[in-house]
Amino acid sequence: MPPELTAVLALCRNLPSPPGIALRIIELAQDPEADLSTAADIIAIDMALSARMLRIANSPLYASRRRIDNLGQALTMLGLNATLSLALGFTITQGVAGTAGSPEQDLRERAWRRSILSALAASQLGQARGLRRLEELMLAGLLQDIGVLALAQSHPDTYLPLLRDADSNAALLDAERAQLQCTHAEVGAYMAAQWDLPRYLSEAIARSEDGTPSQDTFQACVQLSGTVADIWLDSDPDAARERALEQVHARLQLDSAQFDQVLAQISQALPTIASLFDTAPTTPARVQLLIDHAQELATLRNLRQMQDAEQARRRADEFEARANRLTEQAHRDALTGVLNRRQLETVLEQEFLRATRHGWPLSVAFIDLDDFKKINDAHGHLTGDEVLREFAGTLQGQLRTSDTVARFGGEEFVALLPNTTESVALDVIRRVLARIVSTPMAMLEGGPLFITFSAGVATQGGYERFADVQDLLRAADDVLYRSKNLGRNRVIARSPGDGAALAPPTEAPSAA
Ligand code: GH3
Ligand code: MG
Ligand code: MG
Repeated sequence: MPPELTAVLALCRNLPSPPGIALRIIELAQDPEADLSTAADIIAIDMALSARMLRIANSPLYASRRRIDNLGQALTMLGLNATLSLALGFTITQGVAGTAGSPEQDLRERAWRRSILSALAASQLGQARGLRRLEELMLAGLLQDIGVLALAQSHPDTYLPLLRDADSNAALLDAERAQLQCTHAEVGAYMAAQWDLPRYLSEAIARSEDGTPSQDTFQACVQLSGTVADIWLDSDPDAARERALEQVHARLQLDSAQFDQVLAQISQALPTIASLFDTAPTTPARVQLLIDHAQELATLRNLRQMQDAEQARRRADEFEARANRLTEQAHRDALTGVLNRRQLETVLEQEFLRATRHGWPLSVAFIDLDDFKKINDAHGHLTGDEVLREFAGTLQGQLRTSDTVARFGGEEFVALLPNTTESVALDVIRRVLARIVSTPMAMLEGGPLFITFSAGVATQGGYERFADVQDLLRAADDVLYRSKNLGRNRVIARSPGDGAALAPPTEAPSAA
């Protein structure tokens, strides 16, 4: 194609360009991951296109198959490749046939009719030869003369007279070569490349008017389709049929009877297909219908987007809540629900730092249940477990929410009391002991089970300053050991002072 013409075509604002929906279908056709449901989503947006897909699925082209009632069935029956080819055919040609009342409209319409006939001819010739890619053949047949329509639209002054004066396709090609130094096949292939159509299409269009017959059956069907189409357009149909039969016989080896069969099938499908590609001026009622449909879809889409956003947010919330639950679980002791030892260390580090930084006191109570082994031995491990749970709950209930209760291991617990002096901590843990000794930890057959505990309290920032958390814990454990040695059932602190046992109700755990 001469560079000048390329430049003119590229710049020409009249050059038909594919509508948005066609661009999306082209894109999908090139996507190796494309699937039928994505195609259906795109097609469903365009009501006119959806209706056309449904009608073509029910057309004589697919007549042997069952009645199709909805778009989903239609597309499933057609399959992805056929769907994309047909949808592309319907959308890409929108507007190329020109608008009513434009100059030489009859010429454009005639060219358009030839395209539609060629589409049918290509696919029916292919079918007679047992080819499978019938929809692709149809699309190639339809688009092979897209160059004619493009030139008529972009260069009406030069091109329409050529079109009017040419009494055959061969004459048109001669005139194009003389006047434009290129053919409509080259222009069509150029446009197909510009539009990013699949390669097989631009190649089929480029070679559609080749003088040398193609060895490839697909290409031969496209090349012959125009000649077959001319049977319906020529003023002398019999002569046109003879010419076409001769070529079809020579190149596709179809005999006269087979050829007549092809012509019969084209005739049968023509009314439906022609009406599907009908570009007759749109009536106002129909325009309104399309607008309504578009608005409805826009509303639906918005709604869906809102639902999607809402759903995404809810899912994120759920996810976060679950993550929080899991983290929380990882921090807790499975039996008693208080913090586990690992988490205690984390919290203790934080509280220790804070206390040191601000000069606040931080008290730690190391608590160990008295003679717990005997409880297990006397009443079994399950009762022991129940006691541990009950004890932990009661302890937690006796402390402030700013305090921390953790199970250090076995029947040993640690209470952290931030911003609490040693003497206050001592009072608090003694109050807890008083509560524990008077609260049944389990109900047994023989009656309620009471326990006692021993505890040691150490405080950072009061009587002593500890180098680190481990030192502080060790100090509390030391005092606990002392309270055990002093006879259990008591709470004592690092500072010298009162370490008396609580009197009631027991000296050792027992079932009352
Ligand atoms: P002391 O007064 O000197 O602390 O005596 P004790 O029997 O309480 O101490 P010891 O350390 O000898 O025994 C602790 C017992 O606690 C032994 C162990 O079987 C029991 N124990 C540890 N963890 C659990 C648990 O999760 N469930 C139950 N049922 N028992 C546990
Ligand atoms: Mg112990
Ligand atoms: Mg113990």
